Amino acid sequence: MTKPPLIWLNIVVFATTFLIALIVVPYRAVTHGFDAFEIWAAIICFCFCGMSITAGYHRLWSHRTYKAHSSLRFIYAIGGAFALQNSILHWCSDHRVHHKHVDNNDVDPYSAKRGFWYSHIGWMIRDYQGDTYSNYDNARDLQKEKIVVWQHKYYIPLTIATNFGIPIALGWIHGDILSAVLLIGVMRLVLSHHTTFFINSLAHIWGKQTYTDKNTARDNGLLAFFTFGEGYHNFHHIFENDYRNGIRWYQFDPTKWLIKGCSYLNLTTKLRKTPEDKIALAKAKMQLSVSKIKLENRVNADELIAKLQQEYDILLEKMSLFYDAKKKLIAEKSHLIEVERKALMKQYQEFKTAFAEQRKHWNNFTAQYA
Ligand SMILES: [Zn+2]
Ligand SMILES: [Zn+2]
Repeated sequence: MTKPPLIWLNIVVFATTFLIALIVVPYRAVTHGFDAFEIWAAIICFCFCGMSITAGYHRLWSHRTYKAHSSLRFIYAIGGAFALQNSILHWCSDHRVHHKHVDNNDVDPYSAKRGFWYSHIGWMIRDYQGDTYSNYDNARDLQKEKIVVWQHKYYIPLTIATNFGIPIALGWIHGDILSAVLLIGVMRLVLSHHTTFFINSLAHIWGKQTYTDKNTARDNGLLAFFTFGEGYHNFHHIFENDYRNGIRWYQFDPTKWLIKGCSYLNLTTKLRKTPEDKIALAKAKMQLSVSKIKLENRVNADELIAKLQQEYDILLEKMSLFYDAKKKLIAEKSHLIEVERKALMKQYQEFKTAFAEQRKHWNNFTAQYA
C-alpha cells in the first residue's frame, strides 16, 4: 500500500524547531546564558500554551465538561494559537473522533495501536486524513461559537502574531531579542508540542489501567506532572465528561485547579463531575478482572476465584448501601426534623465504616495476588 503524501509544512516546522531547541538553545545557554526574566517568561508562556490546550481545547471545547466566560475563552483561543496545535475546531473534531473510535487504526486519527511514533507525531507528517481533513460534522456546536469560528478563520495570522510577536516584544522590552526568540519562542514551543503529544503516545502505552482495559489509555502520575494533569488518561477515557482527570486531592491536576479556581470568580460554571459510586464501581470491576486473570494459573484457582468473587459481591453490597445512604442524606437533610436527621446520619456513618472496612479488606485481598 502506498503511503499518503508528506505534509512538508509540518515536517519543516517540527524539524527546524526541534533542531534549534536541541542544538542552538543549549549553545546560547553555554556561550551567552539566559537570565531569570527570560527563563520565567518562557515558563509562563509554556503554562499559558499548555493550559489553553488542556483547559480550553480539551476539557472545555472537546468534551464540554464546563462552561466558560467569553473572556476566558478568548484567552484560551489566543493560547491555543500560540501553542501551534491547529485551530480549536480542527483539534476538537480530531479529538472527538479519537474518543469515539479509540484504538481503531482505520478511524482514530492518532491510534496508539499504530505505535509510539505514529501516535506521537507520525500522524501529522503525512496526509493520513485526506478528504476528511476539513470535515467538522462532529463539531456542529463549535461551528456556532463566535470565538471558535473567529480563531479558525484567522488561525494563521494568530499563530504568526503570537509565536513571533510575543517573544520579539518581550525580547525588545528586555533588551535581547535573539535570546527571547530562542527560549520563549522556540524552546517553549517544542516543549509545549511534545508534552501534549505525549498524551496521545505515552499516556496510551505507559501506566496503570485503573478503571478500564477496554482501551489502551493509562493513568500515569509522572506524565500528569508534565502535562498539566492530563496523565490520568485512563480515568479520562472512561469518564470523558468529567472536568477533572486526577480526581484525588493528591493527584497533580493543575488544569482541574484552574477550572475550579475560576469558578470562584464566576469565570467558569456548570463543572461536571462523575458520580462517586460510578467511579468506585468501575475501579472494583477492574480489580476483579485483573485479579481473576492472575489467579487463573494458580493450583487452587477455582477455590481462590470463588473467594475473590465472594469478596467482590460483599464489596458491591456495602458500596451500594453506603452510596444510597449518602444520596438519601443529601436529598432529605434539610426537610427532616432533628431526630430523623440524627438517625439518618447514624445509619450513614455505619454504612460508611462498613464500606471502608470491606474496601480495605478487598484491596488487601487483591494486592495479595497482584
Ligand atoms: Zn479527551
Ligand atoms: Zn487518548
